[in-house]
This record gives sequence, C-alpha cells and structure tokens, in this order.
Amino acid sequence: MAHATQPLPENDRPSSSSIRGVRSAAAEKRPPTLSTVLAPERLLEAVSQHIAVCVTDSQGILLQVDERISQLSGYRVDELLGKSYGLLLSGGEMEQSNRAFWQSLAAGRSWKGELKLKNRQGEEFWIELTATPIVGDSGGVMFYVFSQTDITSFKQVEAALQNSEDRHRALMEQANEAILLVDMDGWLVAANRRAEEVTGYPRDELLNLHMQQLVPENFRHRLLDLHQEVLEKRRDAFRGGMLLRKDDRLVPVDLSCAVIESGGQRVIQSILHDITERKKLEAELIRARVVAERANRAKSVFISRISHELRTPLNAILGFAQLLESDEEIPLADRHREEVSQILNAGWHLLELIDDILSLSSIESGGLRVELAPVPVAELLRECRDLLDPLARERNVTLALMPVSENLVLVADRVRLKEVLLNLGTNAIKYNKINGCVSFSVVAETERVRINVSDTGIGIRPEKMQHLFEPFERLGQEDGNIHGSGLGLVIARRLAELMDGNLGVWSEFGVGSTFWIDLPRARE
Ligand code: ADP
Repeated sequence: MAHATQPLPENDRPSSSSIRGVRSAAAEKRPPTLSTVLAPERLLEAVSQHIAVCVTDSQGILLQVDERISQLSGYRVDELLGKSYGLLLSGGEMEQSNRAFWQSLAAGRSWKGELKLKNRQGEEFWIELTATPIVGDSGGVMFYVFSQTDITSFKQVEAALQNSEDRHRALMEQANEAILLVDMDGWLVAANRRAEEVTGYPRDELLNLHMQQLVPENFRHRLLDLHQEVLEKRRDAFRGGMLLRKDDRLVPVDLSCAVIESGGQRVIQSILHDITERKKLEAELIRARVVAERANRAKSVFISRISHELRTPLNAILGFAQLLESDEEIPLADRHREEVSQILNAGWHLLELIDDILSLSSIESGGLRVELAPVPVAELLRECRDLLDPLARERNVTLALMPVSENLVLVADRVRLKEVLLNLGTNAIKYNKINGCVSFSVVAETERVRINVSDTGIGIRPEKMQHLFEPFERLGQEDGNIHGSGLGLVIARRLAELMDGNLGVWSEFGVGSTFWIDLPRARE
C-alpha cells in the first residue's frame, strides 16, 4: 500500500497468513521471478496507482486506508480510520443493492461487484470492489482487503449508451415503417408496433421467429444475400421483395438493411416498407399507359387512312389547276391566272401538310422502318447543298459546305438522313435574314459524327425553346408569311432517334441558330 498512514494495532496485525506473510513464504520457495525481484510493497504501490485499497476488520471497520480512498471519498485518512466502510456506501448498509455485499461480508465470503459510494460532499460515484477475506489461524476471517476502482466514467458511458438505446427503441416504436432487429444468426430480437401490423404476428410470436420465416421460399436466398452484403461490405443495402404474413398473404415490400449496435450486440436492422399501394398505382399506370398507347395507335391509323383519302382528291385539284394554268389553247385571263396560282399555292401547302402528318403518324404507329447502312458524309452533304441551292438563291442566302474528309462514313438510313438534313437546311434558309448565310459543318469523334446546320438567321427566343419540338408549334411564325406545318422538326428528331441518333439545337435570338444531328460513326 502506498500511503498507509496508521499502522495496524499489534494484536490485529496479520501473522503468517496475512497477505504479506503468505506472499513472502511463497516467494522463498519459488525460483527468482519478477515478483521476487520486486518487493511486495513496490508491487502494491504500482497497483495502487489504479486501485484504491483499504483493510477492514471482519465487521467492515476501516483499519488501514490508502490515500486514493481519501482522494475518492473526500475524507481525510484519519477521519476514515475506525469508521465502518458503510459510511462510504450510498444509501447505507440496508440499501437493497448493498445488502448482498454486506451479507457476504457477514458470512465471511469474498465479494466482487459494483457499488455506489457517496463522497463527503454527498456526491455519488461508482466503484468496482473486490473484497477478499484474510483468514486467521483459527479459520475465522480476521480482515478484509478491499480493492476498488473508480468506474464512474464507465458508468456514465454505460448510462449514455443505455439512454441512446432507449431513445433508439422509442423512435423505433413510433416509426411508421416496420422495423425488425435480427441477430447475426437471423433470429428476430426486437420488433416495433408497425412490424406487428405489417407481418400480422403479435410481438411475442415475432421474437421467436427466424427472418427466413417471414419471406416466401423464392425470396429466401435473396434475403440471405442481402444480409451477407450488409455484413461483409459494412454498408446499408436495399432490395425489393415479398413478405410472408402470418395469414399467408404476400405483401410487396422494400427492404433496407443496416448493421447497428443494440443492447451491446451487433444486429441487422431491417426496415420494411409496405409498397402494396405503390404497386397498385404502378399497375394502374401501366394499364392506363397500355390503353393510351392503344388509343394513340388507333389515332395514328385513323390519321394515316384519312391522309390517304385526302391526297386523292387533292391530287385531282392540283392536277386540274396545273392543266388550267398551262392550257395554251384556251389561255387563262390574267385575273384567273392569279386565282389559279392561289389554288395551286394553297394546294401544295395542303399536300405538304398531309405528307408531314402522314410521316409523323407512320413514325408514331411504329410503321416506319429505317434501314441503317454506311453513308459517306461528304457526298451526302454535297447532294443536300445542290438540292437546297435554288431555294437559297431565291432567298439571297449563301450556302457553304465546310471541308469534310472524303473517308468519313456514318451509319444511317441514307434517305431518312437526307430528309432530316434537307429539312434543317430549308429551315435555315427560310428563317434567315437577307444576305444571310447557311453552312454545313462536321465534327467527327471516335464513336459519333455530328453534322451542324448553322445559320445567321432570326434565331429563337429562349422562352420559346421548350416548345420547339412540339407538333404544330411554329413559335409565332403562323402569323408571318413563311409557309410551314410546324411538323418538320418533330419528324426530324423522331427520325434521328430511329437511327440511334440525337437531334438538338443551339440558338441566340437575333444572331442565328445551329441545329445538329449526332449519329454513330461507321467502323473503318
Ligand atoms: P415549320 O418550319 O414547318 O414551321 P418546323 O418544325 O420545321 O416547322 O419548325 C418549327 C418552328 O421552329 C418554325 O416554325 C420556326 O418558328 C422555328 N425554326 C425552325 N428552324 C429555325 C431556324 N433555323 N431559325 C429560326 N427558327 C427556326
């Protein structure tokens, strides 16, 4: 003992059976070891850095007290000597939690456990105590050696843990989702109120179940995988699956698992989200979509038929108007020539509109097939330029073709791609300014080829951009004198998509626009 301040009375001193006596006697017989090299006093001194030691008589009256006890309790050593150890016990000797300790002492047995002590200021603190009886020659207990360690901070941590666990359990109980805690072998160790509702099992039955009993046969291996994943990868995992209720009903659930500490052990926390309503909604949506798609197809078929029906009389109108216009035997009067030209203009416009509607409806009904094949880019762009040239001249617009490698080949349906480029080119000329410019340029990457059609035209207002690819949307041009159906870009984009491509635009109002189409590059 480091600081035993008062020697024991001579007749109370332990004889050969005392701690020191027993140790020295044993040491004499043994070969030199650490314990024989180090004097028992030094050993005790070292130990008492962590352990507070005191000696009592068989009744628990303090005979020798170490300085650490004084530090812990706030009493001076001389104040404690001769007093009962019970002075230090919080709640006194009769307190329920202290009774077992006191009874062991009375029976001369050793005791080990946790006790709550009270210091001089009345503040409580926790110690872990080992009370070792020292038996005299007569066989009776002469002394007790009490060695104690302050475990207050450990107790505080334990209490905090308990607190957070209580809070976790309270939160779990209030949660709207079913929560199950499963031990490492898959047995349920806790469940909340919602889990009882979702599974149909009362809690006491749930806590006797293995997690596998809560899922149908065909989902068991997936559940096992899920738990394995959570344990091995130490991260939360999520899966959709089925829950098997007590009444044998199957409930679709989203299952999310995580490993947590609960009650001092690692457990898997499984949160089950009943998605019956969502699944019902999804099924309804799918049903509604199927109905809508069927209606859409019927509409497309109707449009396609009606368009064919309209074309026949329209072709007759256009044909006869052309005959009237070109009849040299009976030439038209100037006034009539003007009127027939109006009939022809309106007729061509109507035919263009019917053609566009027909194309769009055949794309939408899935009736349009594309035939993808390698297309040399430079050659195709030259053809487009030549076809657009008359319109460009008519509108005083310069057409330019930026240099393109003759070897560059992309994959597309040649006829459809040409249709798209002519549409973009026509728009670039139509919506241009006087003396404006339209240019075709190409950017080739390893996998894709982009063709840009740029103009120095009127551009598109930013707020109108979002409507650009909507059918019949002419962004205000319907009031102007440039003819159009508002379908060209919709068709162009759909065709681009059918050819595994994309079609997009960059535009600045008053400055110009660049429409582009991206397509797969052909392998060399
Ligand atoms: P249409 O030209 O028959 O009206 P489109 O679908 O080809 O139909 O184009 C839709 C609208 O987009 C046009 O009416 C026009 O307002 C606008 N637009 C298309 N291309 C350009 C362009 N290059 N510059 C400015 N506006 C354009």
